[in-house]
Amino acid sequence: MTIDVAVVGGGPAGALTALLLARAGHEVVVLERAPAWRWRACGVFASPAGSAALRDIGIAEADLERCARPITAMRVETPGGASFRLTYGGTGTLADSPVGFDRGALDPLLLDFAAAAGAEVRAGVAVASVETGGTGVSRRPARLTMADGSVLAARIVVGADGGRSLLAQTLGVARRSPIGPRIALSFHVPAAELPGIEPAGDARMVVLRGAYVGLAPVAGSRVNVGIVLGPSWFADLRRDGGPATAATILARLGAPNATVLDRVAGVAPLGHRVTRRAGPDWLLVGDAAGFLDPFTGEGLHRAFVSAVFAAEAIDHALRAGGRASLAGYATAMRGRFATKDVVSRLVQGFLARPGLFEYVARRLAAREQVRETMGLVIGDLAPARRALDPRYLAALLAP
Ligand SMILES: Cc1cc2nc3c(=O)[nH]c(=O)nc-3n(C[C@H](O)[C@H](O)[C@H](O)COP(=O)(O)OP(=O)(O)OC[C@H]3O[C@@H](n4cnc5c(N)ncnc54)[C@H](O)[C@@H]3O)c2cc1C
Repeated sequence: MTIDVAVVGGGPAGALTALLLARAGHEVVVLERAPAWRWRACGVFASPAGSAALRDIGIAEADLERCARPITAMRVETPGGASFRLTYGGTGTLADSPVGFDRGALDPLLLDFAAAAGAEVRAGVAVASVETGGTGVSRRPARLTMADGSVLAARIVVGADGGRSLLAQTLGVARRSPIGPRIALSFHVPAAELPGIEPAGDARMVVLRGAYVGLAPVAGSRVNVGIVLGPSWFADLRRDGGPATAATILARLGAPNATVLDRVAGVAPLGHRVTRRAGPDWLLVGDAAGFLDPFTGEGLHRAFVSAVFAAEAIDHALRAGGRASLAGYATAMRGRFATKDVVSRLVQGFLARPGLFEYVARRLAAREQVRETMGLVIGDLAPARRALDPRYLAALLAP
């Protein structure tokens, strides 16, 4: 038996793609390797564009309230003492502000919605290999082999299997991150044990030498800690291990003994890019389709938007009996994100040069209009080309 769509990975991108396709009446199976949700290295902070994308998909306000906590602003702090707040145009309410997602609530909720819409969710099923169906008249269904040896045939395969996507690697489209090797650690601590978060409810992005830490409040009076380490930290990490390195970083934030509430989950290497996002019978969504870095925080929003574009393209292709291609998905993703990617790379270019980053941070702290535009662009709330306009760059960089 051949199903319409197999989705590899039941994170936010896979769950939403399955939800939208099941709603459109297609036969969808989600294959998620984790038997039940458990904390893994992933991100929680999203600009208001993230929750807006979920609302557009039809996620109700009450459901958002269950998994998203509003955040007043993102405070960026540099090693040289510069500091500025990005509000993303919000006022601190769920309706218009950034949020910290409780991934332990969000991910299962989206999978439940996918199942309620008619998708079959198979938890505890790891996909071990994928053979896509080739092209032209000899095209066969794609064949997915699970870790237990069972096989599933599907007309279309969606790779929603995160930043180390098996599908992207199998297809030969995965490439190393364009901004060099980094390792990430991520976990939760009680908000009361971390200075500078409550009562304002700001998130913090603390830039250190060769590393940075993102701190975002989430439900349950917890703070999500996301640490990104550059190569200068790798020897320490190898010697001391993840939990001890996390404790060293927390000590620099004034919280040496903060309690890790789940586990220090790691990802190495962090980030990758892909040379293609779609083929004749496959496409990649969410982090599987490329993820640069958490600093500009576009992972979740992009996962949500990619699911919408993917479901549209797949619906179109299936209704055309396989005669329509999935190339429209790649075009839609490029149209939406190519310029933003240039901005994100520019920000990474500043971040890699501490003197320049300090200079830019001081100007952002002093120039309200320039700062607001930067927040809106980074938050996917204004066209990215605004940040590349020579007049904007002059206003940002002028002494
Ligand atoms: C440290 C860190 C901090 C981050 N911070 C932010 C942030 O602040 N803001 C933000 O927007 N984004 C952030 N991100 C990125 C964010 O976590 C991702 O963009 C988001 O989780 C993408 O969702 P996804 O569904 O594409 O992938 P994932 O959430 O990674 O889900 C992939 C799923 O696929 C499953 N899977 C993988 N392989 C297989 C297989 N072979 N068979 C079956 N199932 C499989 C996994 O178990 C998982 O459930 C961060 C990432 C990291 C690592």
